[in-house]
Amino acid sequence: MSIGFYAGSFDPFTNGHLHIVSTASKMFDKIIVGIGVNETKTRKYDKQLMQQAINKTFLELGITNAECIVYSGLTVDKANELNCNFLIRGLRNSKDYEAEENLAKINYKLGGLDTIFIRANDYDIISSTLVNELKKEGKDYSSFVPKQIYEIMK
Ligand code: ADP
Repeated sequence: MSIGFYAGSFDPFTNGHLHIVSTASKMFDKIIVGIGVNETKTRKYDKQLMQQAINKTFLELGITNAECIVYSGLTVDKANELNCNFLIRGLRNSKDYEAEENLAKINYKLGGLDTIFIRANDYDIISSTLVNELKKEGKDYSSFVPKQIYEIMK
């Protein structure tokens, strides 16, 4: 069975992230979406509420082979513990590529897991930062996040 591990902060999970999961779900038998907990960074949205909203989104959209978990520690350690074969990351542009390529090399060295990059396609303008900024300024951001995520952000 091929299992992909898609890690991120997902603070919040956006339609850009959803596009990556939806594409990956057609390539792998199973996708595990991991909300990484970094004790030194404070989150805007509660990790458990975000996890629930992400899982509800998968259920509603019929993405039956994806599941969201919350984890702490190194991403490769968690992915290996869960018998994942590949790490998954999204790419919006060349800036993402440079950062992600570094991360992928480190993860391969640390845990022997290779990374599969998936293109953002038309979702390349979306970022968690943009969504948070629009919300702060009182603008409409509803088209950038899944419905269930919008519900917990309001
Ligand atoms: P992190 O804080 O670890 O960078 P994010 O939650 O911001 O985590 O993103 C997780 C992954 O999703 C990264 O690989 C990032 O490049 C990718 N990503 C973020 N936004 C998009 C998007 N709109 N389209 C495709 N990939 C994206």
